[in-house]
Amino acid sequence: MSRLSEDELIQAIRKLLSGQAPGVVVGPGDDAALVEMGDRLGVLSTDMLVEGVDFELGLTSPHDLGYKALAVNVSDLAAMAASPRFALVALGLPKDVEPSWVVELYGGLREAADEYALSIVGGDLSSASQIVLSVTVTGEVSNRGAVTRAGAGPGDRLCVTGALGAAAGGLTLARERPRDASTAWGRDLLLALNRPVARVGEGQTLAQFGATAMIDLSDGLSLDLARMCRESGVGARVVSASIPIHPALAELARALPGVEPLRLAMEGGEDFELLATLPEESVAPAAATLGERFGTRLTDLGEILQAGEGILLAGSDGRDRPLEPRGWDHFAG
Ligand SMILES: [Mg+2]
Repeated sequence: MSRLSEDELIQAIRKLLSGQAPGVVVGPGDDAALVEMGDRLGVLSTDMLVEGVDFELGLTSPHDLGYKALAVNVSDLAAMAASPRFALVALGLPKDVEPSWVVELYGGLREAADEYALSIVGGDLSSASQIVLSVTVTGEVSNRGAVTRAGAGPGDRLCVTGALGAAAGGLTLARERPRDASTAWGRDLLLALNRPVARVGEGQTLAQFGATAMIDLSDGLSLDLARMCRESGVGARVVSASIPIHPALAELARALPGVEPLRLAMEGGEDFELLATLPEESVAPAAATLGERFGTRLTDLGEILQAGEGILLAGSDGRDRPLEPRGWDHFAG
């Protein structure tokens, strides 16, 4: 497995699953699948959290783990501009796990389900050598309302919601600087790590303003931007100084020399903000509406280019450099 990156493995699976299938509008390879369902589109997504890989038991409470497992799935629905509807939860448990741990986990799942107006309607339990939590969600969107990763075109503006790098900062804090966990900035970072927010309303609003492509930032800006550009067949130029670095990362960098806020913002992952491309004239009204409706910032990061121009990072010296897609890869190393 180690010789294939996660993206290469996904490409190989996509090839195997390719071909016409009745009722499938968008198959594997986007944030969620789109399928025909009456006069609307059904939206399907699944995500698995594995102990020791996607979470560490000592660093998270079962309640937060449950909450996060559902929220990150809802984030994939948000990235399609869909409304969440139902969820299924499959759980693999080592034999020594306490029943109270499982009850707390479901408490967190339930809290997130209530938050996003979604019902958990079933699932499965099995035993495993480590905890494995797999959540599947469904949503819906109008026939023309869905936004995929594939619609960005040269000239579009590249925009992102919220601020970046806080979840990666929270993980760094939890591992390397736990004594600052109760500071105001430390709490901000840990909240971003443990209680991610799925931008459901924001995704629908961006779609209303004509978003041409959208992806949620699960693995970091540089890697997820490369995925969007590949699906759309375009390049991009990101202005380094425009990247909205979460303000608490400056405090973390003061406490922990070696922490680079810009790097966490670009490669950290798990921010679950939405990266969207918009027609230039839509950026200002979309930003104003996101602020009014949700108190969420929308930042213009740069522009979409032709594919042949590559993916570039414009530095403060005015020079463009290739932006290497580096971020979270399950099979790296
Ligand atoms: Mg996604």
